[in-house]
Amino acid sequence: MVIKRRGKNNKVEKLEALISRLSSDHPQWEWIKEEFHNRQSGERGERSIDYHLTFLPRDEFFILHDLRLENEQGYYFQIDTLLLSSRFFIIIDVKNYGGCILLDHHFNQLIQQSSNGNKRGLLDPISQIRRQELQFKKWMKSHGMKNIPVESLIIFSNPSTIIETTTSPSYYDKITRSINIDNKIDQLKLKYPKEILTKEELWPLGKSLVKAHTPSNYDPLKYFKITQTDLLKGVCCPSCSVLPMIRLHGSWQCSACMYLCKDAHIRALQDYRLLINDTITVREMCHFLGLSSRYSAYRLIRALGLLHSGGTKGREYFLEFE
Ligand SMILES: [Zn+2]
Repeated sequence: MVIKRRGKNNKVEKLEALISRLSSDHPQWEWIKEEFHNRQSGERGERSIDYHLTFLPRDEFFILHDLRLENEQGYYFQIDTLLLSSRFFIIIDVKNYGGCILLDHHFNQLIQQSSNGNKRGLLDPISQIRRQELQFKKWMKSHGMKNIPVESLIIFSNPSTIIETTTSPSYYDKITRSINIDNKIDQLKLKYPKEILTKEELWPLGKSLVKAHTPSNYDPLKYFKITQTDLLKGVCCPSCSVLPMIRLHGSWQCSACMYLCKDAHIRALQDYRLLINDTITVREMCHFLGLSSRYSAYRLIRALGLLHSGGTKGREYFLEFE
């Protein structure tokens, strides 16, 4: 039974907004694009295992997705998926790499070779998940939880990925494909036949984990060291993505493809919320949307019926959209 669902992947959304507002000759452009594609592919991989987890007995496992916990040093660690049972817990990390991957145990690295022959080095998933395991065990101990075995699994979700290894140490048992999840779990059931927690103990434990989850406040501008002045201003054309559209007789018109649209400013305000702030004043809106008339900005934002605070001067509108 799923007791914590995966949140909306804000990071992917934020990176997408950033890419749409950055010139392609910006020095960080390639890095941001790569980060966006990696995260998007990671998200697809995570969602793809949901189907396989539906085969687990509902009353035997509690499933928590996308759990972010704070360790004793004040740093956060993230778990893609956590399975709780009365006999053992499992941390699941999903990798959605394509092409051919080589797990090099000797140098603790993962080498991915794509279909065009290009190679790139990636973090070793075994070292990553071992660290997560360790941090989670410490977290449970510091929160006075019972000592229960914690296992971990790395799932390669792309069925066409070719997995190779240099040698095969026993911990490569931690690696499997999506279709084999239930098999792996059955093996763990045999390994841990003894019940450590009762059903009555497991439920509040699951709830306390859900309560301890802290959503991340990812700020891509800070992460990539980008200033607000680097961002392209204006309203983006929904048809051809060119910036900026021109405000003409109560509509937005694209100067490149001549597309005409009434509500293209909503997307721009969403970009502002994702990248800069979740509130905006009329003055900030004029600057970001490239509007010369404050009255026209005021009319646009008033028509959206957003909640606001403050008097008429310097009023802040909360950018919460349906
Ligand atoms: Zn256009």
